[in-house]
Amino acid sequence: MRIGMGYDVHRLVENRKLVLGGVEIPFEKGLLGHSDADVLVHAVMDALLGAAALGDIGKHFPDTDEQYRGISSIVLLRRVAELLEEKCFVIENIDATVIAQRPKLLPYMEQMRENIAESLSLTKDRVNIKATTEEGLGFTGNGQGISAQAICLLQPLADVIADIRMQPESGCKGCSGCLKESED
Ligand code: MG
Repeated sequence: MRIGMGYDVHRLVENRKLVLGGVEIPFEKGLLGHSDADVLVHAVMDALLGAAALGDIGKHFPDTDEQYRGISSIVLLRRVAELLEEKCFVIENIDATVIAQRPKLLPYMEQMRENIAESLSLTKDRVNIKATTEEGLGFTGNGQGISAQAICLLQPLADVIADIRMQPESGCKGCSGCLKESED
């Protein structure tokens, strides 16, 4: 198992779309950045790259590169999925938190979760998205910006295969790992 964490911040400004988790959210301001500035997806990508020891999104998608201007971060997330696949890593789970005073994100959370899971070819039960405010404190509290944090677990594919081989061919044989009794 390998653990990774990601953290990102973007400034809220006028005349920008607010995109979080690949969802365009109606709001009077949006996040400033070279790409679509999807702070949630950026934190998720950095967690995944970190767990794989592949650096960070600045290394793979530099904000000095014109090809990434205005790009959807969901497209970049799919590229991160390809990088993990090349390195033979399997994503166990992702947990992320968006920190924003406004707007209310609850109506959009499920779609964000779906977008991230789908981009990584994961079932939704491996992705969790949360939102919180900082009670009016700090730069998220006064509406200057939005931040996001993410954490993930990766498994080397070889370990996943070894686990499958360790499992009994049919039925549960019982072990000390759970309270389930042997089916034999
Ligand atoms: Mg960013």
